[in-house]
Amino acid sequence: MRVAFLGLGNMGRPMALNLARAGHDVRGWDISAQAMQEFGGATAATRDDALAGAEAVISMLPAGEHVRAAYLGAGGIIARVASARPLLIDCSTIDVESARAVGAAAAAAGLDMLDAPVSGGVGGATAGTLTFMVGGPDSAFARAEALLRTMGRNVVHAGGAGAGQAAKICNNMMLGVEMIVTAEAFVLADKLGLDRQKLFDIASVSSGQCWSLTSYCPVPGPVPASPANRDYAAGFAAALMLKDLGLSQQAAASAGAATPLGAHAARLYQALVEAGEGGRDFSAVFPWLARMARSEAT
Ligand code: NAD
Repeated sequence: MRVAFLGLGNMGRPMALNLARAGHDVRGWDISAQAMQEFGGATAATRDDALAGAEAVISMLPAGEHVRAAYLGAGGIIARVASARPLLIDCSTIDVESARAVGAAAAAAGLDMLDAPVSGGVGGATAGTLTFMVGGPDSAFARAEALLRTMGRNVVHAGGAGAGQAAKICNNMMLGVEMIVTAEAFVLADKLGLDRQKLFDIASVSSGQCWSLTSYCPVPGPVPASPANRDYAAGFAAALMLKDLGLSQQAAASAGAATPLGAHAARLYQALVEAGEGGRDFSAVFPWLARMARSEAT
């Protein structure tokens, strides 16, 4: 399939390369000259050159404002490809309202469009093991599924336009809250003189078990692959967790959902980022809490 891939950053680059390796004719494009140079696959001279003749357009951009700017308006992707009618797939993590607005504009132009954010990080993008959470019409999902399976292991159709983004922010709100409370449990265990490995051995087979404990443990030792063993090099940066928690709170406010722990998690990650830790892994909430006096944290 001829694919225009827009946004060749940390995630987009390995995703596009996996499509090319699988035999697709991928034309990459990015507004950053450096990203274009570092891509390592075929690039187009201009965005419109990338779009020309494409059967699918995939985007992997930073945030909702970039996706709106890229797709909407007279010079946007939707207007440019309205006659060729390629499949449109936005894999960026963005706010639900922007995803719905762009999906509605595509539908109004008679185009198949999906929001398809991912879980799995740069490692999953490189290994081709991402989870895709997909929102959009059945017809678009049917056209996209094989392409998405080239880049990911799990591809789930969550519902109509915006449902992929809704699934992503609900999942990451759970993750943010779970990581904080897992870190808090180790802070408390340290203060109580309970050995960290013993807490891990017990909680990982008890009702406290969660992914933040068993796959991504925030203290060094119990899970050798977790960032805690690499001085919290990201992984999934705290700044990106803050972004996703912010999106969850934006959605909760507009939908009228009570999410008090999600709101508190967003405030804690805000403070972590303001403390200069935004580039470190989001599990660095553990050493930050461990350094903190009880009165500061409540
Ligand atoms: P990134 O900043 O590394 O890459 C984004 C790229 O998009 C940049 O190269 C930028 O120049 C380019 N860009 C911006 N506007 C553009 C436009 N109009 N046309 C073409 N290119 C444009 O970000 P990333 O880490 O690759 O993340 C991309 C998205 O994936 C974000 O929404 C992020 O939240 C999400 N995500 C990231 C991770 C992760 O671990 N990095 C995990 C899951 C989801």
